Amino acid sequence: MSSGLVQMREAQDEESGLGALVFYSEFDDPAEWADALRAYLPELDIRVWPEVGEVSEIHYALVWRPPSGFFEPFEALKLVVNLGAGVDSLTGRPDLPDLPISRLSDAGMVAMMRSYILFAVTRYARDIPEFEAAKRLGEWRYIHPRPLSSTKVGILGLGILGSAAAEALAWLGYDVRGFDRREKSLKGVTSFHREEDFGAFLGELDILVNMLPLTPDTRSRIGPDVFSALPQGAKFINASRGEVVDEPALLEALSSGHLGGATLDVFWQEPLPKDHPFWAMENVFITPHLASITVPQDAARDVAESIRRVHGGERPLHEVNPKLGY
Ligand code: NDP
Repeated sequence: MSSGLVQMREAQDEESGLGALVFYSEFDDPAEWADALRAYLPELDIRVWPEVGEVSEIHYALVWRPPSGFFEPFEALKLVVNLGAGVDSLTGRPDLPDLPISRLSDAGMVAMMRSYILFAVTRYARDIPEFEAAKRLGEWRYIHPRPLSSTKVGILGLGILGSAAAEALAWLGYDVRGFDRREKSLKGVTSFHREEDFGAFLGELDILVNMLPLTPDTRSRIGPDVFSALPQGAKFINASRGEVVDEPALLEALSSGHLGGATLDVFWQEPLPKDHPFWAMENVFITPHLASITVPQDAARDVAESIRRVHGGERPLHEVNPKLGY
């Protein structure tokens, strides 16, 4: 379409409303999202791929892992909203248009991740795996509880989800430390950010929690050097992305007994293949990538606000930096 025609269309949209949004996801329910968005933007025309109609009317894309070449026909796009918090599947693709990219972030998603991390940390801090094993043997095995303040928990990645988990753990009484690219000030959390302090951060932990996004910088960041820097018997929790972890190194650290256990929600390959060694490891607790999800009713308000902002010439909410990858 010629640039003159695009401008004419935009002028018409100015008068008539926002234009249209294209929805693509094999995972999320389009009807649920359409209802949730219409509650905030009744005038938005929502079209579910492949029934997209006149493509020049489409200014917004709400997508989760669209196929290669997906964006090409939508020349009038102004905003891409990723249907999730982790944008690695979007920022890494060569056909990503040069447009504002926004991610989801909502209180429901934060609350769910917080609950998952609190559960996984507390399961270790209160020796629940020991009681699960004892129950299987029909044994009454008493282990004297330790105060929560004696458990040192490290959160790697203090973003929206990591910082919420860190503050909640601190509020419960754990000794919480965090490591991030930049210094973060969080209530009750000792914050580290310099590379030269990474070893000191790891060296005292009872439990390491990975909340880093997957970027070119963080791929396989948690490898043999990280595991060996943790004290003998430390536990590991991964709730961000499988590829941030060097999986063979994790297997080795668990098999050798250097790591005392792992709680894993994310993996290199999902679903985790049936013959993967993790399944047979007594000290590995597995959940199928559900530490947190988005509830459309919670997330739609910010998506609607981003659309309004971009329509008005402003930047969207929760904008990601495609170069950094998060
Ligand atoms: P954010 O983008 O808000 O935060 C990422 C944090 O990591 C930022 O604080 C950033 O630092 C820091 N960071 C980035 N790169 C590095 C690095 N190389 N070294 C140290 N710190 C770094 O992400 P969220 O907290 O919202 O989410 C984290 C991840 O959780 C998502 O990317 C997603 O992959 C995953 N996730 C998993 C779900 C599940 O169900 N398992 C559900 C939802 C999300 P700075 O701010 O200083 O730049």
